[in-house]
Amino acid sequence: MEGTKQNLLGRTREQLADFIEDIGEPRYRAQQIFEWLYTKGVTDFRSMSNLGKAFREQLARAATIQGIIPVDSAFSGLDGTTKFLFELEGGLKIESVLIPPATEFRPEGQEDDEEQTRLTLCVSTQVGCPLDCAFCATGTMGFFRNLTTGEIVDQILQVKRITGKKITNIVFMGMGEPMLNYDNVMAASEIISAGIGIALKRITVSTAGWPDRIRQMGDEKRRIKLAISLHSAVNETRTKLMPVNKRFNLDALMAAVEYYYHRTKQRVTYEFIFFDGLNDTEREIKALIRLARRVPCKINVIPYHSITFTEPEGLAASLRPSPRLEELVQMLRRHHLTAMVRSSAGEDIDAACGQLVVKALRSTARRRLDVRRKETAA
Ligand code: SF4
Repeated sequence: MEGTKQNLLGRTREQLADFIEDIGEPRYRAQQIFEWLYTKGVTDFRSMSNLGKAFREQLARAATIQGIIPVDSAFSGLDGTTKFLFELEGGLKIESVLIPPATEFRPEGQEDDEEQTRLTLCVSTQVGCPLDCAFCATGTMGFFRNLTTGEIVDQILQVKRITGKKITNIVFMGMGEPMLNYDNVMAASEIISAGIGIALKRITVSTAGWPDRIRQMGDEKRRIKLAISLHSAVNETRTKLMPVNKRFNLDALMAAVEYYYHRTKQRVTYEFIFFDGLNDTEREIKALIRLARRVPCKINVIPYHSITFTEPEGLAASLRPSPRLEELVQMLRRHHLTAMVRSSAGEDIDAACGQLVVKALRSTARRRLDVRRKETAA
């Protein structure tokens, strides 16, 4: 019966071996299935041609390969970014964004060749997000649920299948806070590396700052890269922009970052959007320079992408990009810090950093919020 079949998509090699053993076959056959699922990306047991017919039929009786469904895509004529919309089992939707080689603001002559061949997929890890950062459209949707390992991995398999292109880098920077879905994100990273063939050092997990999980990454000596969505090195300002800072302030965050660095010796990336009159002042820059000296790091300066289409309120409605961007970056560089300016990929199709939102789900989230407010008021 279809309902009792086990979905193999998203299983690690070890989990596949357990399944194979359960159906009475030798564990080593898991490697063959692992390669068919992730390296070759097949979606049907009949295509697994190096498995015997009887074994393939046995697999089809006991298991499925149930992925996400591509429903729409939008292509940016400005910079070649493509945004994909996928439907999950149960009807919820998520977005992923394929970003072409970066055109970063760099001193002349410092562009590297690798930059020109880089094709990055920005992957979602949750439906919506509970953290509600002021500059982010995803936060306005509210939180629905975590993605499964299979739903995370399948975003990459689907985009490869649709575009026929080789994806070179992955960033867990789409919808959601990856550290709140830690186990599935880490299992997906292992599959992406061992199965799809994207090296761990080309996978980045970007977090708003969840100290326990940052420490866990250090203890587990994870080789994927860590990026911290920082946006201010002053608690008061950061709390305004990112409510998570109320729960884990900069002292707690930086203690975890230092711990992580001492365990892994891996450089950390700080992501920073400069907002006019908010975090582009002298006090803020001095604080950023002090913070950035604590462990070896790179600062990724991200241009602000308007989220006015979400009809923001309060601080979110007043955010404007800093007009001093280049000057601030040069200032950081004068203090011997590595600072890059990321390109505004996909802004014309609402696919840029902070702009991901599934509008249909946003109205559902608003309704849920209104109901909750009424219940609280009653
Ligand atoms: S920036 Fe990241 S953590 Fe903050 S609300 Fe958006 S998705 Fe969530």
